[in-house]
Amino acid sequence: MSLDRKKSNELFQEAKEVIPGGVNSPVRAFSSVGAEPLFIEEAEGSKMYDADGNEYIDYVGSWGPMIVGHSHPKVTEAIQGAVAKGSSFGTPTTLETEMAKLVVEAVPSIEKVRMVNSGTEATMSALRLARGYTGKDKIIKLTGCYHGHGDSLLINAGSGVTTLGIPGSPGVPEKIAKETIAAPYNDLDAVKDIFDKYGDDIAAIILEPVTGNMGVIRPKKGYLEGLRKVTNEYESLLIFDEVMTGFRVAYGGVQEKYGVTPDLTCLGKIIGGGLPVGAYGGKEEIMNHIAPDGPVYQAGTLSGNPLAMTAGIETLKLLGEPGVYEQLEEKSAKLNEGIKDNLEKLGLNCYQSREGAMFSLFFNENPVVDYATAQECDTDSFAIYFRKMLEQGIYLGCSQFEAAFMSLAHTDKDIQKTIEANYNALKAVKEN
Ligand code: PMP
Repeated sequence: MSLDRKKSNELFQEAKEVIPGGVNSPVRAFSSVGAEPLFIEEAEGSKMYDADGNEYIDYVGSWGPMIVGHSHPKVTEAIQGAVAKGSSFGTPTTLETEMAKLVVEAVPSIEKVRMVNSGTEATMSALRLARGYTGKDKIIKLTGCYHGHGDSLLINAGSGVTTLGIPGSPGVPEKIAKETIAAPYNDLDAVKDIFDKYGDDIAAIILEPVTGNMGVIRPKKGYLEGLRKVTNEYESLLIFDEVMTGFRVAYGGVQEKYGVTPDLTCLGKIIGGGLPVGAYGGKEEIMNHIAPDGPVYQAGTLSGNPLAMTAGIETLKLLGEPGVYEQLEEKSAKLNEGIKDNLEKLGLNCYQSREGAMFSLFFNENPVVDYATAQECDTDSFAIYFRKMLEQGIYLGCSQFEAAFMSLAHTDKDIQKTIEANYNALKAVKEN
């Protein structure tokens, strides 16, 4: 079976005439997998429908937010109710307090939280706060982690930066870039060495505590604890970027699951229920340094707007129901078991990695534990695999260096179909 994508291809040509690369975010371009992007017209539950009328089982979920499924009736109804009352007032609303309370209750490190409009804004603002609070300038980031496109964080980043092979972006001034020191993920000694050398100048270390942007990589035993200890010793802040993992790997994120509490946490994606959102929060004593309470400036015309708050609140309420994370775990485990069986049947050796409802299939025989080992993956095989899955109506992230996401809407039938498609796609890789 091969799906006709004629209409999508035509629409892409038209888009390219007026939008750089035809896309408003580079990861959507499919350029590394030798295909052209789909134009999606609508989505419901676990399915998306493109301009040619093809149906896809979706494991991208708008890159993470759609954890309760697309167009969930409760979320849709709540947004409709909110928009009827006005889409933005530029004043405080009770929705913002409600959202803040949900986040404070859920995320161990957060005593106060500020809403912004994207994950990028969340990480940029958290860094400014860390620098303003500590009076230090340098930050440590980990190679292959992606924290949005703020200047300080576009150094050795993951996601599209890795997919497109861009080491550092032109337009980021050298003076800013040199305040960011990169270290490999999962290597505590490397971080300790940096602290030994620059300890007094380091405002913070920022990381995805479980990575998604070079594929799913879990922290080695003791790694997060080690980072907590060394940052305490040097009075630097530990920042967890849980934009992807927050409310996904557990309701309270990686910090709840692994029991390591950072000073600041960045959130996004799920807390907006599919509308533009980000947030950063942490200890009250640190958060009180933000304007208007303190001197660290950060603001936003549409921050905490009622539509995004409503979509987010409704999504978090659904996620707060009993048994939800057990369901996500069960579905994700079932799919990954099926993939494992397929690999065994075909005599293929690929590395599978999963943290709750996010997972990766690495075309690498060896464990992927950091950026260097992620780079050893066979991206040509991934491209074949991706295209073969797409042809069979399975929509995956279009890069070896992106995670796949399970939603509550995925059914047993979806998972079974995905396992069958996975067998055919792996067979195509093997036969290539
Ligand atoms: N941090 C992480 C961990 C992310 O995965 C992303 C987006 N994929 C961002 C930050 C940036 O978020 P946004 O795209 O909303 O700016």
